[in-house]
Amino acid sequence: MSPMSEIEYERQQEEEWLGQTMAEHLQALLDERGDEDFARLNRNLYKYTDCGAYLGITLWGGEPVWSHDKRLPTIRPGDVQSIGVGTIVEGTDAAPEMEWLDLLTYAEDEDASRLIEGFNAAVQRIEDAAQDIWNETHGCDGCGSEVVDPNCPVCHGDGIII
Ligand SMILES: [Zn+2]
Repeated sequence: MSPMSEIEYERQQEEEWLGQTMAEHLQALLDERGDEDFARLNRNLYKYTDCGAYLGITLWGGEPVWSHDKRLPTIRPGDVQSIGVGTIVEGTDAAPEMEWLDLLTYAEDEDASRLIEGFNAAVQRIEDAAQDIWNETHGCDGCGSEVVDPNCPVCHGDGIII
């Protein structure tokens, strides 16, 4: 083996190792949440967030896969470069900016704990951002403006009911 191909070989080994580690971290995230695949992760995100969050995925190579994509259940952790969380706010065109986690950022971590914490934090930021948009746009007649009055005697700070 020439020195050059040895370097190439080592680089390839390194990339394979990193790819495997990233897939393992992502699988650990699914396991931690009790979701057997990304379709289930998407459903449970929607079900267990107040804002009804959804999942986004970017495959290696850059192709996006959104929550309504029929391929979602067939996607394996090794296919994924980044995962994202987003939501819409009913009755408004405003939406929080999608929160993305690039697995490359976590590739050299020893375990999945930072990825799992990062994902949970992203979900929480989406919840908070959706709540802020809701509060800015869903004041009822009792609130007297578009902004929800936390002391409103009619909606008690919940805003207009859609
Ligand atoms: Zn009100």
